[in-house]
Amino acid sequence: MKKLTVFFPCLIWVSLSFSQQPLTIAQKVDALIKQMTLDEKVGQMTQVTLAVVAKNGWGNQDGSLDTAALRKAVVEYKVGSLLNTTAHAFSAQVWRDMQTAIQDEVKNTRLKIPVIYGLDCIHGQTYTLDATLFPQSIAMAATRNTELAREVTKVAAKELRASGVRWSFAPVLDCGRQPLWSRFPETYGEDVYIGKTMGATVVRAFQEDGLKNPTAVACCMKHYLGYSAARTGKDRTPAYIPEIELREYYLPQFREAIKAGAATIMINSGEINGTPVHASKYLLTDVLRKELGFEGVIVTDWEDIIRLHERHLVASTPRQAVVMAINAGIDMSMVPGNFSFFDLLKEAVQKGEVPMSRIDDAVRRILTLKMKVGLFDDPYPEKETAGNFGKPEYQALALDAAHQAMTLLKNENNVLPLATMNQRILVAGPGAQSISALNGCWSYTWQGKEEQWYPTDSKTIGETIIGKSRSVMVLGSKGFDNPDNYDTAKLRSAAVGADVIVLCLGENAYAESPGNTEDLALPDNQLALARTAIASGKPVILVLTEGRPRLITSIAPQLKGILMAYWSGRKTAEAVADVLFGSYNPDGRLPFSYPRSMGEMVLYDRKHTEDVREIFNENMTMDGYKPLFPFGYGLSYTSFEYGPIHLSSNTIKGSEKLTVSITVKNTGSRDGKHTVELFTHEQYASITPSMQRLRAFKKISLKAGETQAISFVLDKNDLAFVNAQLKTATEPGDFDIMIGNQKATFSYQQ
Ligand code: BGC
Repeated sequence: MKKLTVFFPCLIWVSLSFSQQPLTIAQKVDALIKQMTLDEKVGQMTQVTLAVVAKNGWGNQDGSLDTAALRKAVVEYKVGSLLNTTAHAFSAQVWRDMQTAIQDEVKNTRLKIPVIYGLDCIHGQTYTLDATLFPQSIAMAATRNTELAREVTKVAAKELRASGVRWSFAPVLDCGRQPLWSRFPETYGEDVYIGKTMGATVVRAFQEDGLKNPTAVACCMKHYLGYSAARTGKDRTPAYIPEIELREYYLPQFREAIKAGAATIMINSGEINGTPVHASKYLLTDVLRKELGFEGVIVTDWEDIIRLHERHLVASTPRQAVVMAINAGIDMSMVPGNFSFFDLLKEAVQKGEVPMSRIDDAVRRILTLKMKVGLFDDPYPEKETAGNFGKPEYQALALDAAHQAMTLLKNENNVLPLATMNQRILVAGPGAQSISALNGCWSYTWQGKEEQWYPTDSKTIGETIIGKSRSVMVLGSKGFDNPDNYDTAKLRSAAVGADVIVLCLGENAYAESPGNTEDLALPDNQLALARTAIASGKPVILVLTEGRPRLITSIAPQLKGILMAYWSGRKTAEAVADVLFGSYNPDGRLPFSYPRSMGEMVLYDRKHTEDVREIFNENMTMDGYKPLFPFGYGLSYTSFEYGPIHLSSNTIKGSEKLTVSITVKNTGSRDGKHTVELFTHEQYASITPSMQRLRAFKKISLKAGETQAISFVLDKNDLAFVNAQLKTATEPGDFDIMIGNQKATFSYQQ
């Protein structure tokens, strides 16, 4: 080419102007891959955990790295990625120093390909002292506020990037339809629409303005696919999901997140219909790559390749496990405790069991990610990002989010809000004495239970209530599991002098398999406290801090008030006190059906035959859906009334749009926020229709006495369902639209 340009001046111009064009990422990546050896490629596909390179391995206390171990990982094994922590939380500065040391080591490699570090960021950045923790996703879903979800995620992204980390292992897009599941709190609840709306919002927020943006990080949607639907409810146990159900309830959240640009995806550790998802070429390549068009990096979950051999028993050797997973479509293995994957994959390629084209495809995606997040431009923690960690205004946002999550489930005779200063308030129960039970999983540590890592100014509910009233007695001692907090005799005698009892029950923090439970009912020692409090004859207000709905049916009728506080993060205690004393008017809405009992686990989007309880022909009831509190339930200190639904037309055809309008009036005497939820129901369809499906929601603020008109625009996509041919389609027919107590009907024609 050079020679040619010498002889043909016109070509000089062409070649010069061509060479002045900056190379695209794809061109740079291709050029790099051409230079890479097999070892370098396989290394890029290997991800190990911090303990592999930290001083004292899992026993590491301070984030310091073992120089020889780091060299072995980065130079000898050429690993492309690191993740996680040892069992401790480190300061943001320690994280920055660690990233610097890792990238320094990269300089000793031939091609100097930066390492990408991934950290979990479930409700704020994990494993980092003083990181801002927001409500868990289940509580964010209760806020029904996507803008709030966006703001919260932007802070989480800023704090991660300020720690030198550019890859967030979030959001969780698993649909929470099995409340026994220990990862229920990480989900957006049982509804597909909330899951996909919140999920896509969070994806966009993590990656806002492009991955090079020093306030953005690459996100990782997880755990594809069907992870939340384990038949036993136990973490990582088998799911049996017919494809029609998989596509109707579990896939749309991922489809939407991919459209929103999600950079990476993590795979479900479990199996569906007997095939581990890590070995499913159908799900990883045919559906995820070809059908959904996902271009980003597919990373395994923890140890999940070797588990194809050791646990799932579908691969008779460790190498076969690697071959299965990589040929199915995995790009990167979270090995993470050793280098076995590296050796096995190399061997498999050399034996021709994995084609080089598959390796190049995986490496191309990994290098593209690294270029997109700017690691090739500057792999070190960016100077200007340091100040983005722990800004004071994040606390106000955490409080706003916790406020909006609070879901008031019962308020008999307006027992709430409590009259400030005048009542003698007894606060009891383990939830009143705990910080970890307000935050839950992935809070400074994986399990979130270790309170020594929480910020020193974190408050318990007992402490925030003391600040609100003159006469408060808090029973028990610090720590959820402290036996003092379960002493019914003490509660009985203290109740004598009280006007009202605030009883704080629920769950201490847990994550993943350690959170498995055999029974959804609240444990006996907590129910005993409730019974004792009720027996005192004093009004009892139950505050629940829990990640999943624990059954309270046996005590609920005798309670005067019930506040669902979820695990709402850093400011849970403040938000609870503000609601109890009325300085915040609650507006959270349940993102799940609060079950009545283990035998009554019907979800809101049930089929008609779940509503019908047939005894014999005419002897039927229509009360099959009778949770203790329905999906969408949540009280306010004011009241709202709807006007009639107005439709722009009684019929829509093809791609025409339908505008649905309604007025909402605040008929009470307090200002308040309110979420308007629009449901549809197709009267007859080829696949039994759901009784209701949420299709849109809008949260508004209304002053006392104010009326607002709001409208939604629907089209045929909002009416679609997965048919017997497994296609998402809209059938002609008559549809009901339900908003609150209002209903209207229209027809859809093709
Ligand atoms: C979890 C993932 C998490 C990973 C890394 C796994 O045990 O299932 O959600 O991202 O660990 O911490």
